[in-house]
Amino acid sequence: MTGGTVGDGCVFCRAAAGDDPLVVHRGTAAFVILNLFPYNNGHVMVVPRRHIATLGEATADELGELMTLVRDAERVLTTAYAPHGINVGLNLGRAAGAGVADHLHIHLVPRWTGDTNFMTVVADARVLPETLEQTAARLRPIFATGAAAAGPPPGHVPGV
Ligand SMILES: [Zn+2]
Repeated sequence: MTGGTVGDGCVFCRAAAGDDPLVVHRGTAAFVILNLFPYNNGHVMVVPRRHIATLGEATADELGELMTLVRDAERVLTTAYAPHGINVGLNLGRAAGAGVADHLHIHLVPRWTGDTNFMTVVADARVLPETLEQTAARLRPIFATGAAAAGPPPGHVPGV
Protein backbone atom coordinates (compact mmCIF):
# COMPACT_ATOMS: atom_id res chain seq x y z
CA MET A 1 0.00 0.00 0.00
CA THR A 2 1.26 3.45 -0.78
CA GLY A 3 -0.34 5.58 1.87
CA GLY A 4 -3.61 6.24 0.10
CA THR A 5 -6.95 5.97 1.79
CA VAL A 6 -8.80 2.89 0.64
CA GLY A 7 -12.56 2.72 0.53
CA ASP A 8 -14.69 5.75 1.24
CA GLY A 9 -11.74 8.13 0.93
CA CYS A 10 -10.93 7.15 -2.63
CA VAL A 11 -13.19 8.16 -5.51
CA PHE A 12 -12.11 5.19 -7.64
CA CYS A 13 -12.59 2.65 -4.84
CA ARG A 14 -16.09 4.08 -4.29
CA ALA A 15 -16.79 3.75 -8.00
CA ALA A 16 -15.43 0.19 -8.05
CA ALA A 17 -17.61 -0.86 -5.13
CA GLY A 18 -20.78 1.06 -5.79
CA ASP A 19 -23.25 2.12 -8.40
CA ASP A 20 -21.46 5.15 -9.82
CA PRO A 21 -23.34 6.70 -12.77
CA LEU A 22 -20.01 7.74 -14.28
CA VAL A 23 -18.90 4.11 -14.77
CA VAL A 24 -19.55 3.15 -18.39
CA HIS A 25 -18.06 -0.37 -18.40
CA ARG A 26 -17.03 -2.96 -15.81
CA GLY A 27 -14.53 -5.75 -16.34
CA THR A 28 -13.23 -8.30 -13.85
CA ALA A 29 -10.16 -6.51 -12.52
CA ALA A 30 -10.71 -3.06 -14.00
CA PHE A 31 -13.42 -0.67 -15.16
CA VAL A 32 -13.94 2.40 -17.33
CA ILE A 33 -15.24 5.65 -15.83
CA LEU A 34 -15.89 9.14 -17.16
CA ASN A 35 -13.70 11.94 -15.89
CA LEU A 36 -15.81 14.25 -13.74
CA PHE A 37 -13.83 17.20 -15.13
CA PRO A 38 -13.29 16.18 -18.78
CA TYR A 39 -10.78 17.90 -21.05
CA ASN A 40 -12.92 16.96 -24.03
CA ASN A 41 -16.10 15.07 -24.75
CA GLY A 42 -15.52 11.37 -24.23
CA HIS A 43 -12.65 11.75 -21.72
CA VAL A 44 -12.59 8.38 -19.94
CA MET A 45 -10.25 6.64 -17.52
CA VAL A 46 -9.40 2.95 -17.27
CA VAL A 47 -8.97 2.04 -13.60
CA PRO A 48 -7.98 -1.16 -11.75
CA ARG A 49 -10.48 -2.24 -9.10
CA ARG A 50 -7.66 -2.63 -6.59
CA HIS A 51 -6.32 0.45 -4.82
CA ILE A 52 -2.81 0.49 -6.28
CA ALA A 53 -0.76 3.53 -7.18
CA THR A 54 1.83 2.17 -9.61
CA LEU A 55 2.16 -0.26 -12.49
CA GLY A 56 4.70 -2.11 -10.37
CA GLU A 57 1.97 -3.10 -7.91
CA ALA A 58 -0.29 -4.49 -10.64
CA THR A 59 -0.47 -8.21 -11.38
CA ALA A 60 -0.01 -9.55 -14.89
CA ASP A 61 -3.76 -10.17 -15.10
CA GLU A 62 -4.51 -6.60 -14.06
CA LEU A 63 -2.02 -5.19 -16.56
CA GLY A 64 -3.55 -7.33 -19.27
CA GLU A 65 -7.08 -6.23 -18.51
CA LEU A 66 -6.11 -2.58 -18.19
CA MET A 67 -4.60 -2.60 -21.67
CA THR A 68 -7.51 -4.61 -23.06
CA LEU A 69 -9.90 -1.97 -21.72
CA VAL A 70 -7.70 0.79 -23.16
CA ARG A 71 -8.06 -0.97 -26.51
CA ASP A 72 -11.84 -1.30 -26.05
CA ALA A 73 -12.10 2.37 -25.08
CA GLU A 74 -10.12 3.34 -28.16
CA ARG A 75 -12.66 1.48 -30.30
CA VAL A 76 -15.65 2.86 -28.42
CA LEU A 77 -14.44 6.46 -28.56
CA THR A 78 -13.63 6.11 -32.25
CA THR A 79 -17.12 4.75 -32.91
CA ALA A 80 -18.88 7.34 -30.75
CA TYR A 81 -16.96 10.48 -31.65
CA ALA A 82 -14.78 9.82 -34.70
CA PRO A 83 -11.95 11.88 -33.15
CA HIS A 84 -8.87 12.84 -35.18
CA GLY A 85 -6.68 11.34 -32.47
CA ILE A 86 -6.69 10.08 -28.88
CA ASN A 87 -4.29 10.91 -26.07
CA VAL A 88 -3.64 7.85 -23.89
CA GLY A 89 -1.72 8.58 -20.75
CA LEU A 90 -0.71 7.83 -17.20
CA ASN A 91 0.26 10.39 -14.59
CA LEU A 92 2.15 8.53 -11.86
CA GLY A 93 2.31 10.66 -8.73
CA ARG A 94 1.09 14.12 -7.90
CA ALA A 95 4.23 15.78 -9.27
CA ALA A 96 3.41 14.20 -12.63
CA GLY A 97 -0.05 15.74 -12.59
CA ALA A 98 -2.18 12.97 -11.11
CA GLY A 99 -5.36 14.33 -9.54
CA VAL A 100 -5.87 11.05 -7.68
CA ALA A 101 -2.28 9.97 -7.02
CA ASP A 102 -2.98 6.91 -4.88
CA HIS A 103 -5.15 4.96 -7.32
CA LEU A 104 -3.76 4.20 -10.75
CA HIS A 105 -5.80 5.37 -13.75
CA ILE A 106 -5.16 5.62 -17.49
CA HIS A 107 -6.65 8.60 -19.32
CA LEU A 108 -8.06 8.48 -22.84
CA VAL A 109 -8.87 11.91 -24.27
CA PRO A 110 -10.37 12.18 -27.77
CA ARG A 111 -8.70 14.95 -29.75
CA TRP A 112 -9.63 16.98 -32.77
CA THR A 113 -7.35 19.01 -34.97
CA GLY A 114 -7.35 22.55 -33.64
CA ASP A 115 -8.90 21.78 -30.26
CA THR A 116 -5.74 22.84 -28.39
CA ASN A 117 -5.85 26.32 -29.89
CA PHE A 118 -9.50 26.58 -29.05
CA MET A 119 -8.99 25.35 -25.51
CA THR A 120 -6.10 27.73 -24.98
CA VAL A 121 -8.37 30.63 -25.85
CA VAL A 122 -11.07 29.57 -23.46
CA ALA A 123 -8.51 28.60 -20.78
CA ASP A 124 -10.17 26.60 -18.02
CA ALA A 125 -13.69 27.35 -19.18
CA ARG A 126 -14.07 24.09 -21.07
CA VAL A 127 -16.85 24.12 -23.58
CA LEU A 128 -18.57 20.77 -23.64
CA PRO A 129 -21.68 20.42 -25.79
CA GLU A 130 -22.46 17.16 -24.01
CA THR A 131 -23.31 16.43 -20.37
CA LEU A 132 -21.64 13.55 -18.56
CA GLU A 133 -24.98 11.74 -18.47
CA GLN A 134 -25.23 12.05 -22.24
CA THR A 135 -21.67 10.81 -22.66
CA ALA A 136 -22.35 7.80 -20.41
CA ALA A 137 -25.54 6.98 -22.29
CA ARG A 138 -23.68 7.18 -25.57
CA LEU A 139 -20.68 5.03 -24.57
CA ARG A 140 -22.30 2.24 -22.50
CA PRO A 141 -24.11 0.45 -25.34
CA ILE A 142 -21.02 0.57 -27.55
CA PHE A 143 -18.91 -1.06 -24.83
CA ALA A 144 -21.63 -3.70 -24.46
CA THR A 145 -21.78 -4.54 -28.16
CA GLY A 146 -17.99 -4.53 -28.38
CA ALA A 147 -17.67 -7.15 -25.66
CA ALA A 148 -19.86 -9.49 -27.66
CA ALA A 149 -18.15 -8.76 -30.96
CA ALA A 150 -14.64 -9.15 -29.55
CA GLY A 151 -15.07 -12.90 -29.15
CA PRO A 152 -14.81 -15.16 -26.11
CA PRO A 153 -13.04 -13.95 -22.99
CA PRO A 154 -9.47 -15.12 -22.28
CA GLY A 155 -9.44 -18.70 -21.06
CA HIS A 156 -12.70 -19.59 -22.73
CA VAL A 157 -12.69 -23.17 -23.98
CA PRO A 158 -14.56 -23.55 -27.27
CA GLY A 159 -17.60 -25.75 -26.90
CA VAL A 160 -17.85 -25.35 -23.15
ZN1 LIG B 1 -8.73 3.55 -4.49
